[in-house]
Amino acid sequence: MEIMSASRSVWQAMMNGLRQRCPDCGKGHVFGKYIKVNHTCDACGLELHHQRADDAPPYFTMLIVLHFVLSGMLTVEQVYSPATWIQLTIWLPVSLVSALWLLPRIKGALIGIQWARQMHGFGGDFT
Ligand SMILES: [Zn+2]
Repeated sequence: MEIMSASRSVWQAMMNGLRQRCPDCGKGHVFGKYIKVNHTCDACGLELHHQRADDAPPYFTMLIVLHFVLSGMLTVEQVYSPATWIQLTIWLPVSLVSALWLLPRIKGALIGIQWARQMHGFGGDFT
């Protein structure tokens, strides 16, 4: 059983998660392959398998990406009124790349919040 810290900073854990690092030590990697969460931290041994991010990371990723993409698309449409294929050529790759870039960072941050708030098994008294 892991020993609980006296206090866990939500902000620090989120920042570590955004860097895809362990919410506790900030050194080990949270993910093995892309968004596959490691069983334990490879630096401090924190059990990461307690995370229950589920479908929250893609939800927040889409929320953020689509706000920027739709704003950009509407602005370009208002200013330049380009052909539809030009809009698609711009915004489809932007959407894809930004979503793939953002997803592991958001998932890491959510795992950090879960750890800091001692949610699920991160509190040490949940089996
Ligand atoms: Zn660690």
